[in-house]
This record gives sequence, structure tokens and C-alpha cells, in this order.
Amino acid sequence: MSEPAVRCEGLVKSYGRAQALKDLDLTIEEGSTLALLGPSGSGKTTALRLVAGFEVPDAGIVEIAGRRVAGPGLYIPPEQRHIGMVFQDYALFPNLTVAGNVGFGISDKSARKDRVSEALELVGLTGLGGRMPHELSGGQQQRVALARALAPRPALLLMDEPFSNLDAGLRAQVRTEVREILKSTNTTALFVTHDQDEALYMGDQVAVLDWGELQQMETPEGIYHTPATRFVAEFLGIADFIPATYNNGKLVTMIGAVPWNQEPPPDGVELLVRPDDMSIEPSGSGQGTIVGRVFQGPSYLYDVSLESGEVVHVLQHHTRQYDVGAQVQVRIIAEHKLACFLGEKLVG
Ligand code: ADP
Ligand code: MG
Repeated sequence: MSEPAVRCEGLVKSYGRAQALKDLDLTIEEGSTLALLGPSGSGKTTALRLVAGFEVPDAGIVEIAGRRVAGPGLYIPPEQRHIGMVFQDYALFPNLTVAGNVGFGISDKSARKDRVSEALELVGLTGLGGRMPHELSGGQQQRVALARALAPRPALLLMDEPFSNLDAGLRAQVRTEVREILKSTNTTALFVTHDQDEALYMGDQVAVLDWGELQQMETPEGIYHTPATRFVAEFLGIADFIPATYNNGKLVTMIGAVPWNQEPPPDGVELLVRPDDMSIEPSGSGQGTIVGRVFQGPSYLYDVSLESGEVVHVLQHHTRQYDVGAQVQVRIIAEHKLACFLGEKLVG
């Protein structure tokens, strides 16, 4: 495999006594997007600022496009790292036109005009180069920020919660556009977010941080279905853990058995089930009782209390409308392998 476009190894950063990053390893393959996901305060922005060069690591190295830009005794400033940046607040220059903003980072004067129109076309703002930032909507301003970051054709695009200021409808649209632009330009990107849906959508790989530590780096599907830790499982979406025992090629739980073709797991394991892995049917002899129901438009999300006292979350199509208090049979219907946990950790 070729050298990754970005390589961080052993990054450590403390602010006083607060250890923002403990020992971070990350790689980003050329042309791909790494979504860095974690709760507020987990160290995402710190990681991005170390890659950008706005902070100097206490230990560890950063390499961009095969060139070391930070390491013991070495520090290359941001303007020499060939990066583009997009922030939550757009940070456009209010006194410059759209074209002035987009052309700002292009030192080659003869190429500037073409690059600006190219970048504006890329983000769908052709013809608006003469406008001032305040004459644009939030979504348009964010596109200008993206055009400005991409116009110098950076080796790496860094984005820190770039859609947080957009309302929900616009956010979905802009993220689709941005993803398409990143792919069509083969841009390598580090995308920071605390929103798991956004991370799953934007990332070719998703890296989850907690308290400055990398929990897992995986494909979106991998991180959702095979989370390495309970923290990752719960951060990526609703997760229920059901006690399971191994018996003759199966993991048996109170809501059904699933095939288990691996080595038998130790005693005391739990199966990770998500709401779409289960189904309910009204039944007088069922082992569950509906204790809550949330209408989500296309579907209902049911809270179902089991005989053991545990509550599981079950997603059903909106046509399957049952009342709170109804007795139901809960079944596992997943057609993919379910993850098995012992304590905090995945065992298979
Ligand atoms: P995130 O972007 O995931 O919300 P940050 O990287 O901003 O997290 O912060 C990680 C931790 O480092 C937090 O505990 C935060 O309070 C601390 N921190 C970040 N920047 C500074 C700073 N300049 N001075 C002191 N503490 C900081
Ligand atoms: Mg942050």
C-alpha cells in the first residue's frame, strides 16, 4: 500500500494538567475522508489543530503527504503545510467580496482568476463572486468557505464541525454536496464532528475519541456493527446489551438465539442488539411489555421491558402500531452477525 496522505503517531498534548490527547495514532489514505468523532471535550479540535500546526505536540509526529511537519525538534508553521481549513463559523473576511475571499490563499496571481471561478463553480456559486459575505445565506457562506479552502488545491482539507451553524434541512443538503465535492476532487480530508450520523455519512473511515484516547478507527459499517468498546457502541446509536450463553454453535438469549461460528465466548457475555435487529409481535405469552413509544414518521421506536427487567429498544415500521402496556413477543431478526461483549470490550 502507498504511503498514507496523513500520518500521526503518538500525539500527546496537555493544557496544564488537562491531557487533551493521550497517545493518538491516525492515518488518512489519499483522497479519503477520516471522520473524527467524539463527545465535546474528547480532544477532536486539539487533534485537528496539531495537524494544522496551530498547536505544537508535547510528543509524537505529524506527516502530511509524506513530509514530516511536526516532531521532536521540528515544527513547520500552518501556512507551509499546504492545508485548507473550514470552520463552524465560516470565518470569511467581511470586507472582501466572495471572489476576494476565495482567491485569498492563491499566491500565483496569473492563475488566481481561473482558480476562483473554478472553485466557485465547484460549490455551485458561479456568478456570485462580486457579492459581499453579508449578502449571502448561511449555506452560501459555508460554500464560500469551502471554495476558499479548496481553491489553492491543498494536500489536506481540515474541517471542524463545519455544518453546526446550519439548520437541520440545510445541513443534510450541504453535507451531500460537500461529500460529492471531496470525492470529485479526490481531496484528502479530516472531518471533525460530535454528530454520529454526520460521521457515518462523511467518513470513509471513522475514528472515535474519548477523553483524548482513540477507541477505534474503522469503516462506518464496521464501527456501527462491530464497535470495539461499549462506549463506541453507545455513542454510535441506541445499543442494548442482552446476556447470552453459548450452546452448541449458538448464542442463546431471552429474545432468541443467533448462530455463533467462532470459538465459544467466556461466561458472562452480552450480545449487542440495535433497534433494527429486533422485532415485536403482540402475544399473550410474550416475554415483553411495551413501556414506551416514540413516533418517528416512517417508524415507531418502542421501549420494551423484558421479564428480566431490562428494557430494549425496538424499531418497527409505522404500520405496526401497538399500545403502551401491550404484551409482546420480542425476537432477534438481524441477518448479520451480532457483536458479543464481555464487560466493556468486544470479544467477537
Ligand atoms: P473537542 O473538540 O473534542 O470538544 P478539545 O480538543 O477542544 O475537544 O478539548 C479537549 C480538552 O482540552 C478539553 O478538556 C478542553 O477543555 C481542553 N482544552 C482545549 N484547548 C485548550 C486550551 N487552549 N487551554 C486549556 N484547555 C484546553
Ligand atoms: Mg471541538
